Amino acid sequence: MAELITTLGPLLRERLGTILPHEHVFVDLRKPGAPGYGEAEASAVVALMAPEVAAVQAQSVTALVECTPVGVGRRADLVRAVSDATGFPIVVATGIYREPWIPAWALAASEDEIAEWMLGELQDGIETSGVRAAWIKVSAGDDGITAQETKILRAAARAGRATGAVIGSHTIRGRVVKDQLAIIEAAGYTPDRFIWIHTQAEPDIALHLEIARRGAWIEYDWIGGTIPDETYIANIQKVLAAGLGDCLLLSQDRGWYDPAKPDGGTPKPWTYLLGTFLPKLAASGVDRATIARLTADNPFRAFAR
Ligand SMILES: [Zn+2]
Repeated sequence: MAELITTLGPLLRERLGTILPHEHVFVDLRKPGAPGYGEAEASAVVALMAPEVAAVQAQSVTALVECTPVGVGRRADLVRAVSDATGFPIVVATGIYREPWIPAWALAASEDEIAEWMLGELQDGIETSGVRAAWIKVSAGDDGITAQETKILRAAARAGRATGAVIGSHTIRGRVVKDQLAIIEAAGYTPDRFIWIHTQAEPDIALHLEIARRGAWIEYDWIGGTIPDETYIANIQKVLAAGLGDCLLLSQDRGWYDPAKPDGGTPKPWTYLLGTFLPKLAASGVDRATIARLTADNPFRAFAR
């Protein structure tokens, strides 16, 4: 039976309701090797982020997917500290971000070595955190996937094929996603275990629909940001009208403790989706059952294995 692997252990669908599929607890966008990169006290991260967790728990959100890979400050131990302090399950990724954030060890590693590392994190756990990775986060350059990013994606496809873990990729252009799907298919994995993260950044909605028709997940995940809610609502209506609602994820890409800022800076709350956006989506005519499918069933199916 499919389980969602979280900081609090594996959870079945019946234990979960609404899941936020793309948020962040801790991110460092400075490059690996910068002074202080990825460093913070667990007590400080908990002090800043536990109230943000409490705010979405109060909205009856039941879990959140942390989308930070290696390269942009992934710290599974700090995410776990926030989870333990709040009793809130968080889903953590293995994987590596795009160039120029790829750390030196991964640039030097072979595809085999990266696949083995991902498998270890998916099966045994991340570093000394005691947390298993549920899924694989990767990325590709805006103008096309580089040789290093291709190596990492091929390794992800192999680790995914061995475990059932979904691959999510930060990819800004739909034509780059098509190249990525060809790469994972050539590596023996399937488009239905691929999430196109940041689909909304591609202005051509025909590409959103084309990728979803191939079975991949599309994700509108900057809700509450600069793109108007009405644009998201119009696109969601088109996806639903095309019969592709089973391939759609909604989230905010918000948060987080930033160790580059004093005391971690000021996080953007995760409450916009349930507090503001979903009521507007309902008012536009999308029924409750469909909203539950988009916000509870879909994220579980995407990330469980
Ligand atoms: Zn993100």
